[in-house]
Amino acid sequence: MRRLQLLPICLALVTAAPAWAQDRLQNRSQGPLNVVASFSIVGDFARNVGGERVSVTTLVGPDGDVHVYAPAPADAKKIADAKLVIINGFGLEGWLSRLVQSAGSKAVIVAATDGIAPLKIGSDADPHAWQSVVNARIYVANIRDALGAAAPADAEFFRANAERYLAKLDVLDREVREAIARIPQARRKVISTHDAFGYFAAAYGIEFIAPLGVSTESEASARDIAGIITQIRTLRIPAVFLENISDPRLMRRISAETGARIGGTLYSDSLTGEKGDAPTYIDMVRHNIKALTSALAN
Ligand SMILES: [Zn+2]
Repeated sequence: MRRLQLLPICLALVTAAPAWAQDRLQNRSQGPLNVVASFSIVGDFARNVGGERVSVTTLVGPDGDVHVYAPAPADAKKIADAKLVIINGFGLEGWLSRLVQSAGSKAVIVAATDGIAPLKIGSDADPHAWQSVVNARIYVANIRDALGAAAPADAEFFRANAERYLAKLDVLDREVREAIARIPQARRKVISTHDAFGYFAAAYGIEFIAPLGVSTESEASARDIAGIITQIRTLRIPAVFLENISDPRLMRRISAETGARIGGTLYSDSLTGEKGDAPTYIDMVRHNIKALTSALAN
C-alpha cells in the first residue's frame, strides 16, 4: 500500500522535470531573434555577429541609397515584428523615426556608431564612419552587446561570433595600411565626387579632393571638365574617381590631357548583391583598396 502512495509523488517528479527542460527548450526554439538593420553594411555586421540565432532584415538593401530612402509600407511591418532595430546613427537615417512611430514598434533602437567621435561636414556629423575599419570594430562591439541584451541566453554565442569577426577586421585593417604604405607619399591623393571617404582619409592617409564646381548629383558639363583638368594639373593628382561622369569621351579627355588615371568604382554607402564586387563589408573594403592602389601605384 505504501508503494501506491508514493506513485503520485513520482508522477509529479516525472512531469516536473520535463516541464523545466521544456522551458529551456522553448528558449532555444522560440526561433531566431528578429532584428532589423537600416542598411546593408550594418546588416552584414549583424549577420556576422548573430549567426543563425538572429534573423536580420535589411531595410535599404544592396545598391540602395540610405540617405534618401523612402520607406515602403512593408517596412513598417518589418519594424513592428522586430525586437531590435540597428541603425548607423549620426543622422544617416533621417526617415527612420517616423517609420518606427507609424509602426507602433516597441523595438529597442541601437546606433552602431555609439562611442565613435564623429567627423564633421560643416556643422553636421559625417555619417560614413564605417569607412574606417577601426570604427567598424566599434560597430561590431555595439551590435554584439545589443544582441546579447536582447537575447541574454545567446549572449555567449554572439560574443564568440564577434570575436571571430573582429579578428578578421584586424587582418583587414592591416591589409589596408600595408597597401597604402606601398603608395608613394606624394601620390596618396585622388579627386573624387564621393563625399563618403572622410573617415577612410583620416584613418589611412589618402586625400580625397572634391572636383571644383562639380555637383555630386548631376552629370558634369564640358566646362566642369575643363575645371577638373586644371585642378588635376595644379595639384598633381595621380588619379580620379568620377562616377557622375558617365560619358566615356569626357573621361578619355581628362585622362589624355592630364595623364591622370581613371579609377574604377569605389563603394561607399552600400554593398552590392551576391554577384557584385562588394557583397560583404570585408569585400567592399578589399575592392576599394585594390581600386585605389592600382590607380595610385607608380
Ligand atoms: Zn553617403
